[in-house]
Amino acid sequence: MTPSGLPARVASRWLSRQASVRFKGAKTGKAFRILYRAFVESMVGKSLTVDLHPRKSMGRQTGHVTSQDLDRGHIRIFFLTGYPPYALRNIGHELTHVLQYKRGDLAFEGNKILWKGHPYMTKEEYDVLDYAGHGNLPWEAEAKREGEAKAAAFLRSAPTALRGKSPALDYMFDNDLL
Ligand SMILES: [Zn+2]
Repeated sequence: MTPSGLPARVASRWLSRQASVRFKGAKTGKAFRILYRAFVESMVGKSLTVDLHPRKSMGRQTGHVTSQDLDRGHIRIFFLTGYPPYALRNIGHELTHVLQYKRGDLAFEGNKILWKGHPYMTKEEYDVLDYAGHGNLPWEAEAKREGEAKAAAFLRSAPTALRGKSPALDYMFDNDLL
């Protein structure tokens, strides 16, 4: 383990990247880009490059990051966009997984998923979990809780910092649409 918690084999891949939030895929309005970028920075600072991939529909999912991406230090967050408070929760949920990985709590070794240093299950077992079983995993329970808490805290503080950056955003704040 490195000081950041990242496994040594992946630390250099993470640390060599430029800090920024980039948008990929679906077109996203300026107000949403400002909001999503500020939210990501509120959670991880400017220490990571995060590619946000907003999606208008994702089946039953609200977002995902992949273990392959985490291991290669390329953080892509696919998430359901739309109503901003929910979209922020979805981003916050996935970013929580990124932070779990960064501090070494969530890790992958071959086909094993490790939680807090101990093998927890295999990827094959993970793939066949039902909805309830998935939600009960310790890293999922934490991501749900943190995603909701971080999005709510951000929306309480955001208007002060983001005021004046976009007329559309000001309108949303002024009319309690967020
Ligand atoms: Zn999750």
